Order: sequence, then C-alpha cells, then structure tokens
Amino acid sequence: MQGIRNSVFCGRVCALLAIAAVAVLPTRLSAQVPGIGQPVVPQTNSGPGDTSALAREATTWLAELIKINTTNPPGNEEAAAKYIARILQKEGIASELLPMAPGRSALVARLNASAFADPSKALLLVAHMDVVGVERPKWTVDPFGAVPKDGYIYGRGAIDDKGMLAANLAAFVYMKRTNARMNRDVIFLATDDEEASGDASIKMLIAKYWDKIAAKYSINEGGNVFVKNGKVQYVGVQVSEKVPVTVTVTAKGTSGHASIPLKDNPVTHLTAAVEKIANYNAPVHLTTIVRRYFEGIAPLEDSEIAKWIRSIETPDRGEHATRVLADTNPMWNAMMRDTVSPTMLNAGVRANVIPSEASATLNVRLLPGNTVTALLAELTKLVNDPQVKLEVQKDGGLAAPDSSLESDFYQAIVKASAEEFGGVPVLPLQSTWATDSAQLRLHNVQSYGLVPFPVTVEDLRRMHGDDERISAAAFAKGVNLMVRLVGGFAASH
Ligand SMILES: [Zn+2]
Repeated sequence: MQGIRNSVFCGRVCALLAIAAVAVLPTRLSAQVPGIGQPVVPQTNSGPGDTSALAREATTWLAELIKINTTNPPGNEEAAAKYIARILQKEGIASELLPMAPGRSALVARLNASAFADPSKALLLVAHMDVVGVERPKWTVDPFGAVPKDGYIYGRGAIDDKGMLAANLAAFVYMKRTNARMNRDVIFLATDDEEASGDASIKMLIAKYWDKIAAKYSINEGGNVFVKNGKVQYVGVQVSEKVPVTVTVTAKGTSGHASIPLKDNPVTHLTAAVEKIANYNAPVHLTTIVRRYFEGIAPLEDSEIAKWIRSIETPDRGEHATRVLADTNPMWNAMMRDTVSPTMLNAGVRANVIPSEASATLNVRLLPGNTVTALLAELTKLVNDPQVKLEVQKDGGLAAPDSSLESDFYQAIVKASAEEFGGVPVLPLQSTWATDSAQLRLHNVQSYGLVPFPVTVEDLRRMHGDDERISAAAFAKGVNLMVRLVGGFAASH
C-alpha cells in the first residue's frame, strides 16, 4: 500500500496499515495478542479440498520472490516478473511482460472463460512486486534470504506484498490445473512501483495497457484478517479509502541578524500555525462504510466500548462518545473525520540568521466526498495569520467511489472468508491508507482489499519495519482462502 508521491506518505498503505492495524485493538488488549513463536492456525471448514501441497509449492515461490531484491527505488521488478512468467510457462499459461521503465515490467496473464477475452465480468487478481527498503543492521536475518525460522518465513515483502502475490499465483494456477469450467475471465496482474507511486505505478499501467487488465472486479491488498488472542477476530475488507493530499504551509517575514529578534520571524509564525493545525479536530462524519464497520465491530469489543460505539450518533451522548472512541483508538478517530498530520519542517540556513521563509508539510487525509478547499479555508481561519499561507501541492489525490457491498464478488468474499475462518464477522473497511484500488475504482472496477493471511498485530507492525515475516501456517490459510474465493467465484459448479 502507498502514501502519495514519496516517502512523506511513508510508502502508502503499508506503513500506515501497520500503524492502523496496531490501532485496531484498544491498547490494553494488544498485549494479549500472541507474538513470536506462536504461528496462528485457525480452524478451517470444508472448502476446495486439500490445498496443503499447493500451499507448500507457493511457499517456495514466495521464498524465491523474496530473494529477488525489488527494493523501490529502483524496483527492478522485471526480474520478479520473469520469474513468475517461468512458473506460468511450466503450467502452460501464457503471460506477457508489460514494460514500464528500464528494468521495470509488470506481468499480466489471463485464463479466459471463452474464446474471446471478456472484461465485462472478469476478475482481476492484483499484487505488487516492489518492496520498501530495509535497515539491514536492524534485521536479525538476511532480509532477502527468505530464512525459515520458528515456523515463519522471514524477509522483506513476506506480508507486503509478495505473500499475496504468491497466494494469487497459487489460486490462478489452481484454476488451470483443475481445468475448471469458468464463468468469467480471471486475470493475474503483478504490478510495479506501488510503494512510490511513481512513473511505473498502476496509474501508468492503466494509461498504457488498460485493454489487457480491464475487469469488473478486483482483489488487492488493503484489508486484513485480524487476529486477537490467537484467534481470527474478524475479516476487514477494504471497499473505500481516504484521499491523501499534501499541503504546504509557508510563513514569510523579514530576514535579519538573529541578535536582533524580529516580531515577524517566519519560524515563530510557522510553528505557532503548525501547533494550531495539529490540534484541530475536523467535524465527525460517519460515511456509510464506517457506520457499517462500527455496527460490526461493536459486538466484538468489551461492553463499555460497545456502549460508546452504539452512542456515536445519539444527540445527547454522541459528542462524548466520539471523544472516548478517538482516545481509545487513533484509527477510529481517523475513520470518523478528515485528519491532518504535520510531517516535515523546513526553515533556516544558519544559526545566527533569521530566515525570510519557513515551511511545513502537512499530510491530509480526507473522507471521500470532502474537499481540501473547504478544509484549507477552515485551517486558514484557525491560523488567522496574514504571514502564513496554505497551499495544496500538485497531484493531490482523487476520491474514488466506494466499491459496492451488494456486488456478487463482495458477497463471495464474505462467504469464503466466513467459511475459511469459522464464521467470523466480515466487515467493510474504509481504510485511512491509500492503495492502488483507488485508481481501479476510478476506472469503474469494483475493487476489494484483502490480504488473505491471518496475522497478529505484532506481525503487522513489522511491515515496512524490521524482521518482516509470515508464519507458514498463516500463509497456507491465505492460499486456501484465495483458492476458495477464486474457485468459488469464477468456476461454474
Ligand atoms: Zn503493499
């Protein structure tokens, strides 16, 4: 998952997801989540038969993919794309490399239901091949060694997103091997440049190769199978996302010798403005998706929290309820309103010079439907300083329509997830982080986010961090879920 243009957004979804996932549980419960050495093996219902051999095979694909260093920048995803092409070739599936930039190619392959490709019902399986960098000294194992240890596979990308890439590949290969009679085309897509959202990203891919990837539905990263106390608590399917926008705050004043303090010092004016902005609470607005999410999460929380969740929209206790919930879980706060995080400061050239300008960068996340213009007008009024200006940086995000909760595919995800994880609730998520799905939704694809592996909060924290890993058992469950989902949805029974 990704931020916007650059690391200001900490590589979009992934880092933010980790933070958010941590935030999903009230702090006092997080401590009870199992940690190292306790791979989670939830219960399974009847499904697509025994997929354990396929999962073992997919584990070797995952390991090989981890060993291909696709740190972005520069990405070098072409090497991973070629590796996947070889696997598909062995299965008798033709694939195509889609050149994006030197050393960077996406890969697409499709299994058609009939003689001609038909995007009108097609299902697109999406995962990205690039990964974020590593701080090598902080890893206890080689980040590109795919080291097996204590029931886990360690390596950059193990969860984000090479795990899903390998699970998608397994489901795709399964369809071919079982010679399934298909009721729709299934397209496998491995993308580039998700972490930096630059010139080789999904946006460019859509612009250059839309005819090869056009589909009615897609599944991508963005949601998770949340584990608490060693059990799957619920499955969160991302159907909507907040819109990231970068804003610059600039203060201007008179430069001069620092030995003579000036009232219009831009550093002083900027810091005062940033403090006001950081303490600003935008009005609470529950979107349909967030309302559905809270309705679903309330029975899973303790009675006190559940009481406040159920009070959010009451006239007398609503305001207090939103305050309690925002304090309990920072992600809940971010789900209920537009947010602003100051992320960068830039001022000064020498210790003894008052600069003529100082600036800060704000990472804004808007609820879909809200405008940055309205928010900036509010913040400008709040700052109330003619020396300070707020400006939107170019390439601000676009709000995509929500994916439907009534679609055949959403229903299929709900059914497959509930079967896979013993009937746990499946809740729609409006993610605070951004994913490639926004671009797909803008192109009329009903896109859903679900990384299929049951993962603990502790393991989610490692995404974009040190010692990223996935338990072999969780990976196998994810493979089974993807096979169940794709097989159930795209094969005629
Ligand atoms: Zn990702």
